Amino acid sequence: MSTPFIRPCGTPAVDFLAEAKRIEPELIRTRRTLHQHPELSYRETWTSKFVADRLEALGISVKRGVGGNGVVGILKGSAEGSVVALRADMDALPVTEAADVDFKSKVDGVMHACGHDTHMAMLLGAAEILVRAKDELYGTVKFFFQPAEEHGGRGGALPMIEDGVMLDPKVDYVFGLHIDGDRKAGEFGVREGPVMAAPDSFRIRIKGRGGHGSAPHKTVDPVYIAANVILGLQGISSRMMDPVRPFVITVGSVHSGTKENIIPDYAELNGTIRTLDEETRKAAKRRVARVVEGICRSYGGSAEVEFERDAYPVTVNDPRATEQAVKLLRKIRGARVRRMEPILGGEDFSRFLQKAPGMFYFLGAANTAKGCVYPNHSSRFKVDEDTLKFGAASLALLASEFGKMSTPK
Ligand SMILES: [Zn+2]
Ligand SMILES: [Zn+2]
Repeated sequence: MSTPFIRPCGTPAVDFLAEAKRIEPELIRTRRTLHQHPELSYRETWTSKFVADRLEALGISVKRGVGGNGVVGILKGSAEGSVVALRADMDALPVTEAADVDFKSKVDGVMHACGHDTHMAMLLGAAEILVRAKDELYGTVKFFFQPAEEHGGRGGALPMIEDGVMLDPKVDYVFGLHIDGDRKAGEFGVREGPVMAAPDSFRIRIKGRGGHGSAPHKTVDPVYIAANVILGLQGISSRMMDPVRPFVITVGSVHSGTKENIIPDYAELNGTIRTLDEETRKAAKRRVARVVEGICRSYGGSAEVEFERDAYPVTVNDPRATEQAVKLLRKIRGARVRRMEPILGGEDFSRFLQKAPGMFYFLGAANTAKGCVYPNHSSRFKVDEDTLKFGAASLALLASEFGKMSTPK
């Protein structure tokens, strides 16, 4: 007889939402403290110490300096069970805060505009709830506080994984939560399978042959070629890719030339492609290179096309773990659970999901009445803090109930 994937979990022994409500004022205070001290990717030293000290104060054993500024807390339950990891990211963005809050960022030009301050506060809240519920807890909970999510490339998850964070004890399930400025406060967004894109940045360097602006026929004009390349690239999505598989290509920066009457030697384009599956991703990269080279050659120039190495993979939620997790989220009174469409942003939580089944899910922060109407990354991004208790309760609930489940095969 084969072992069932998941044991029935029944009703949780602890009312996690009631516990989250009990610590709500502290949850909000912690979030505001973190909000006032934002740090950019790879520079999260103050933040890292803050969360590590908090975990230690709760009696959780802590490893500092995991894959850079990463912090891992380990809480063992009182009974045998699975190992569940919960992750919050820690870095902020180079944005000058324009939100009308009285706990504004104290760092010029840096802001928690993606809400990673709320992720840390909710995970610290979940840690506190789980410590109090330790006697009822099966298995082990690992708390991942991850640096450099916004950086791209190697980011922060990969260095933590290389530092052994998914092992000793081996993680059976992993969950991550993202606050969402485009979703109503109190609403969870969930989806099985691909939920966020692979974000592949590229650089195209077009080589022409410069000369006088009055005599283009004696030159190879890289500005003109660049214009054709930009148009040609959009033809890839409309004419060359399967229309039912999402593919976006954006050229976000164009650089060339110094003066109106000089045809320059070079032009440089930088952009990104977004895809939701590996096959489309590989095909898209090949076609970008081919189209760029073809256009450049046809006008007498040449091109180098480079894709960023170590770009984040597609974030893929495990269907079975997601189905179980959604059932649990539906038990949180007062919160709503909605199936969502994929988002074409990237996330290096994807790297944890390559190592263990689990789910990356979203929690709404929008509330028109409170002026919380701006998206993540906006300088006016503002969170309805009433939503935080649902996030903290959900993380504690997932850790507790997945701890009781059998190890995934
Ligand atoms: Zn972000
Ligand atoms: Zn983010």
